[in-house]
Amino acid sequence: MVDALAAAQVLSEIGYLLRQDPKEVFRAKAFSMAAWSLAIERPDLQALHRDGKLTTLEGVGAGIAKVLAELVETGQSRYLARLREEMKQPAREDESRIDFNHYQGDIHSHTEWSDGRATMLEMAEGARALGYRYLGITDHSPRIKVVNGLDAERLVAQSREMAQVQSQVDGLTLLQGIEVDILEDGALDLPDAVLEILDVVIASPHVKLRQEPAAMTERMLRAAAHPHVDVIGHPTGRRPGSREGASYDFEAVFKEAARNGVALEIDCDPARMDLSPEMARLACEFGCDFVVDADAHAPAEFAYVPMGLWMARRAGIPQDRILNFRPLDQLTDALD
Ligand SMILES: [Zn+2]
Ligand SMILES: [Zn+2]
Repeated sequence: MVDALAAAQVLSEIGYLLRQDPKEVFRAKAFSMAAWSLAIERPDLQALHRDGKLTTLEGVGAGIAKVLAELVETGQSRYLARLREEMKQPAREDESRIDFNHYQGDIHSHTEWSDGRATMLEMAEGARALGYRYLGITDHSPRIKVVNGLDAERLVAQSREMAQVQSQVDGLTLLQGIEVDILEDGALDLPDAVLEILDVVIASPHVKLRQEPAAMTERMLRAAAHPHVDVIGHPTGRRPGSREGASYDFEAVFKEAARNGVALEIDCDPARMDLSPEMARLACEFGCDFVVDADAHAPAEFAYVPMGLWMARRAGIPQDRILNFRPLDQLTDALD
């Protein structure tokens, strides 16, 4: 039986594969949008199909409805099978089993403190509505001026708001973090003394991604060896269909991350999907742990995780190697 989340993952994968063909970007986005709305609404697809009402779903036109109908009837999509073949990205025999019902919380999200479009309280309530036990608030660091990144002073002010928001939400623990920029030379965009006191430090490459590979390798190695870094965010910075990611010695960097207990992110934003399943599989073989996050900038974007989980499955990552499936005390141990 294909439920809404399983169907969302199929549509998400179709969107992902289509995005790799520049001529199909428009159609790719339509599939991603439909996947997103299924992941948010979780409709009863069987009932809608029976009543001939699949096209009443947000973002579902005749073409996507056909894919959904076949999924409901057979559990398969020939369209997806064909795309996988064309893109030479087949399903694998050794995919792992990952169950979103066991997902404990997202540790990469943004608020109005930087470039998010919702308040911290709105994000916290959104996460709680999904049954999450924890949420990492990881706004940007100062370097990126256009997004109003946080310096030490604003982080202190943010922690005061966090205490207040925390008292308004039950059953959800807020973690204060930062998505700190990995500068061109591999240094981080905030002093160690600031990073040290935060619950979650995600170090991400955002600018100068086209550095030549040797310099880029040095840069990423330095970040992966930094004592306060917990996670490397969207490790290549790619944007499927529009921007190629950074290229560096992935083996060396992934091994360094594994050695230091730094997790690698699978960022489920359909515009990123980074690491890719193939790269994540490589990292998994080198012993890395993972976080699977939405990088949400609004509460509705939390649904990127349930629709994007197929990537971790395809990469063959055992569920217990993904920090988001751990209860809070084990997560905080891992982030220590
Ligand atoms: Zn980022
Ligand atoms: Zn982010």
